[in-house]
Amino acid sequence: MFTLTTFKKVPAIVLFFAMSVALQAVDKKPSQLIDLEIKKHKDEILKTRRFIHMNPELSNREFETSKLIAAKLMSLGLDVQTEIAKTGVVALLRGDQPGITVGYRADMDALPIQEQTNVPFKSLNPGVMHACGHDIHMSVALGTAMVMSALKDHIGGNIKFIFQPAEEGAPAGEEGGASLMIKEGVLDDPPVRAIFGLHVMPLELGKIEFSSGAIMASSDRFVITIKGKSSHGAKPHEGKDAITMAAQVIMSIQTIVSRNLDATDPAVISIGKIEGGVRSNIIADEVRLEGTVRTLSEMNQKKIQQLMEDTVKGITHSFGADYAFSYRRGSSPVYNHPQLAKIMIPTLHEVLGEGNVGKINPQMVAEDFSAYCQKIPGFFFFLGVKPPEQTTMAPLHSPLFNPDERSIFVGIKVMCHLLFDCLKHQSHIENTS
Ligand SMILES: [Zn+2]
Ligand SMILES: [Zn+2]
Repeated sequence: MFTLTTFKKVPAIVLFFAMSVALQAVDKKPSQLIDLEIKKHKDEILKTRRFIHMNPELSNREFETSKLIAAKLMSLGLDVQTEIAKTGVVALLRGDQPGITVGYRADMDALPIQEQTNVPFKSLNPGVMHACGHDIHMSVALGTAMVMSALKDHIGGNIKFIFQPAEEGAPAGEEGGASLMIKEGVLDDPPVRAIFGLHVMPLELGKIEFSSGAIMASSDRFVITIKGKSSHGAKPHEGKDAITMAAQVIMSIQTIVSRNLDATDPAVISIGKIEGGVRSNIIADEVRLEGTVRTLSEMNQKKIQQLMEDTVKGITHSFGADYAFSYRRGSSPVYNHPQLAKIMIPTLHEVLGEGNVGKINPQMVAEDFSAYCQKIPGFFFFLGVKPPEQTTMAPLHSPLFNPDERSIFVGIKVMCHLLFDCLKHQSHIENTS
């Protein structure tokens, strides 16, 4: 078995891992086959990526994308399920030898952004763009499925390909994303023992980055409503000024991170929207503040929620006013299981060269891949997509975001080796336990 608890409770297995890490090397034969298969499918993969890029679809509306992916996976002879968590697709590749199942997740949704690049395969869907690189993610996953299908006789165990909708967040009032996929049983039958994922990043092409432990932050949303009392602007003593209270709340909230939390455990509180008041000479009776909280630990996530409410309560009550506080937990931090990361490092070094595998500080952006990491050991890394001839590139979520397509083949190669080597180790574990 290969679970979080196993890692914690069975030191013999941990010892085995340590030994296998030292001895591990990428098999020459599958390695050559992987290269050959990538070459064989290159044109089809590029064509598919461009088609997906031209036809982006928003979260929980990935209908055509879903059909295309399902058709490609079926043509490979995989066991395909559709309409998981609305438009999700799950495909099981069974290796010729028995073994456990590992998962690989790719996200499918685009963003409500009008593309401004000049690529010949620009989005045909007005106001919608694959500006977060999920088109690259799907292409890497499809390519990996193509290559690994051809290597079936070398595989002991199964690979579950998980194409997930709504990573950017389901539309208001709808469920979606990783949590819904899990709820609908994507990690069961057969049970998935470890899961892999990647995200494109503006790092140089050919490089990847990751960190052991937390790699991306939690993401929560809050709405604070300050309820004062309106009066004439010339007679503030007859009202309760919600704008003055809001100003104090904003400043005080910023001291939560700097004065109340451990400085070695990063957190961010940002207020991104403020609304209130009706006219220059009327004291505002209500102000609404909306923002986001990012943390790398559950402890800080809980602390911040409590401290924010205490702050809002203290300030509004001192004015004799009232408040409403709504705090919605989003995704948890993305957590790279340290033992799994340790096992996979030699594979990454072998495939890309040690100089191309960087350790990165955790990022305060979020990814709902975290939901899988809460259930089973996960490994998530950043794939470099900046063309080497450029010094900078437009960031993720920019209308000018244009990742280097050659990154797809780097991604496929890395993923194939990670999955292959992970299964290789799983078999050892099962045999020795
Ligand atoms: Zn995004
Ligand atoms: Zn993304």
